[in-house]
Amino acid sequence: MIGVLGAGQLGRMLALAGHPLGESFTFLHPQESASVARLGDFVVAAYDDRARLEELARRVRVVTYEFESVPAEPVRWLADRVPVYPPPRALEVSQDRLVEKTFFDELGIPTAAFARVDDEKSLALAVARIGLPAFLKMRHGGYDGKGQMRLQTPADVSTAWRTLGVRAGLHGPPPLILEKLVPFERELSILAVRSIAGDVRVYPLVENHHRDGILRLSLAPAPSTTPALESKAREYVDRIFAKLGYVGVLAIELFQCQGELLANEMAPRVHNSGHFSIEGSQTSQFENHVRAISGLPLGETSPVGVCAMLNVIGGLVAREEVLAVPGTHLHLYGKEPKPGRKVGHITVRATNRDELDQALSRLRPMVEPSYGVLGASTRT
Ligand code: AMP
Repeated sequence: MIGVLGAGQLGRMLALAGHPLGESFTFLHPQESASVARLGDFVVAAYDDRARLEELARRVRVVTYEFESVPAEPVRWLADRVPVYPPPRALEVSQDRLVEKTFFDELGIPTAAFARVDDEKSLALAVARIGLPAFLKMRHGGYDGKGQMRLQTPADVSTAWRTLGVRAGLHGPPPLILEKLVPFERELSILAVRSIAGDVRVYPLVENHHRDGILRLSLAPAPSTTPALESKAREYVDRIFAKLGYVGVLAIELFQCQGELLANEMAPRVHNSGHFSIEGSQTSQFENHVRAISGLPLGETSPVGVCAMLNVIGGLVAREEVLAVPGTHLHLYGKEPKPGRKVGHITVRATNRDELDQALSRLRPMVEPSYGVLGASTRT
């Protein structure tokens, strides 16, 4: 039995991958969730409910988490009672953008220039040091582009301070970070998995397209990568794995900029940009995460054809239309559609990029009505 903190689509896909391996699941989450209904046992409890956590630790062999907003302190407490993978330190690092960027820095992994911001004075100093344009971001809690503002001109600085500084600082000094804008050519991510025995498998780089801070489209493998780029990303993975004694799937979001790869953030869990792997890889990220935390041998991560993954956001799609496109697979999460909410994804697999582009040109109009026109076109 695997314990999962969280009960969204990532938990759902972990369970769907784990059942054929003979695993069963108990989810712990503060609210009931349709995404994991009928996929395992469910404990409705706050993440810091010690009695329910204690009970979970007794019932399961290993605990994992499927989103990084789970408070780190109870996870540490749990880790004293039952193995928790990935290690709680990975969770702590990923929960604070300043700790995370400093962590990358210490490992020699390049990032955008950054500075800590605690008050209006340190913001002014940070802007003077780093320059504009830049991003002011909340250190904690921001996701999908929330909790951050782009500063283009000096006039934006005070506006951003009034918006973010006050909000972030409601209960004390505002934990913020200023990051220099990276004029990247494209956004990539690297997904990798490490077993308890220390074996490592890395997926090919994925190219990601965001709009309004939310991932819309991933191309996997990323077109036009080079062995040098792939091995750079692999090196970042190896350093993080070694530093943290990592077990499970890790994702690192990267900016490609003039032949360099800058790390933006890491997710100590299965990741949206790895959803393609259900159909587009020998072994999906979900199965490999389950294998890793269960002490099983890892599966091959080599690609099967070329793939695109389109998120279904805000509204549902017509299943008949989507599935009529050759090579297409649909994954719905059982969630009520709400603006900006990821309710499913589509994966399309082809044997070459021309075929993939043809399928994408049919699929894009089907998902676009729910969230506007996709910004970037695919590169071949
Ligand atoms: P984040 O919440 O840090 O993942 O940021 C959301 C999106 O904002 C990223 O996927 C980028 O498209 C953009 N972004 C964030 N930070 C930077 C930066 N320092 N330079 C350029 N773009 C950024």
